[in-house]
Amino acid sequence: MNQRLFTSLLLFIGLLLGKVAFPADVIAAAASSGLSIEVFPQVSYIFGEQVSFDVEVKSEAQIDEAYLVYQPEGSESRVIPMQIDQNRLAVDLDLNQTRIPPFSRVAYWFQLKPQGADLITSASYAFNYDDNRFEWQTLENEQLAVFWHDGDLAFGQSALNTGINGLETASGLLGTAAPSQQIRIYIYPSTQELQSALEISGQPWLAGHASPQLGIVLVSIAPNADQRLRMEQQIPHELVHVMLYQSVGKDYDRIPPWLNEGLATLAELYPNADYANVLVTAGKNNTLLPMSSLCSPFPMDASRAFLSYAQSASFTRFLQQKYGVSGIQNLLLKYSDGLGCSEASFAAFGKPLASLESDWKEETLGISSSLDALRRIAPYLLLFAVLLLPVLIIGIGRLFSSKKG
Ligand SMILES: [Zn+2]
Repeated sequence: MNQRLFTSLLLFIGLLLGKVAFPADVIAAAASSGLSIEVFPQVSYIFGEQVSFDVEVKSEAQIDEAYLVYQPEGSESRVIPMQIDQNRLAVDLDLNQTRIPPFSRVAYWFQLKPQGADLITSASYAFNYDDNRFEWQTLENEQLAVFWHDGDLAFGQSALNTGINGLETASGLLGTAAPSQQIRIYIYPSTQELQSALEISGQPWLAGHASPQLGIVLVSIAPNADQRLRMEQQIPHELVHVMLYQSVGKDYDRIPPWLNEGLATLAELYPNADYANVLVTAGKNNTLLPMSSLCSPFPMDASRAFLSYAQSASFTRFLQQKYGVSGIQNLLLKYSDGLGCSEASFAAFGKPLASLESDWKEETLGISSSLDALRRIAPYLLLFAVLLLPVLIIGIGRLFSSKKG
């Protein structure tokens, strides 16, 4: 092994299209260097299509192998071999094959194998994978930054104000303090634009999205007469998801969708009146979804998804009114501990989920549990009667024939 080569990496970095040197790396490497390897990387990307890494290398030794290692924030690192052409290294990431979350920070570094030496790992660098198809305007305070590309300054200010009110509502619901780090809100003017950024299909009704671990919220609000209403629905809703993540951390995925979406929907400053109508109709028609089914991701189709949100919000409000904010916090704690969907409610409130569900139906929708039970078994009773009918007929027939005899 050539110790001299092994310890002689000298690194420079080009951030995006500019070249910026990091003197700390130069000093660290120069101290033990005999042979120098300088690296000048440049990153450019076409959003949603391709990221190109182009690296100029100045090395006294030939580079035999080169790898790019990259890691989008909150994701696992991935390794990809680079093409070597004399003093240039290059690789393109096809974003149709590999996905990078929009607005995430992407860390990357290089592994190089100089001739006759072991693999050398460079220091780590990063670029922001922003949606650069648009020119974003921005307004911010300590807790929130709002970005928009369609609309004037008043539009952005209105969004920031809604965000500030939304944070207050979210803090009240969750019983938590202000966000621990600034949350970024990106406003697209249409659901189509938002969904193209997220590469989502099959859920045309999806208007907002949160990447809680990145502290990022995406919403779809056009600057028009409805903008305030849309802001008051979408922004506080998505902020709750991020606040909840900041509160429970890596246990976020253990919070069942009904509670997570229920809290987020309750935070909407302009509640959707159709939720109440949908609940009443589903209650009458006996088409309410079992709450246990909302422990799994919500259905994809629009009407069942809408009902899922309506039920979740109503059920969560019922629990909050009965057990208070501290009761909800306790329930969140039980879920964070890893308890199951029904077990956590038993641990927090002394009742399994199904029992709380019956209480909610009875007290909120006026559906009594005995009537509900009868409704549930009605189809089986009918089936039982149909099956029993021939037996009865035969029995009665025999009775008559025996009397005749
Ligand atoms: Zn949501």
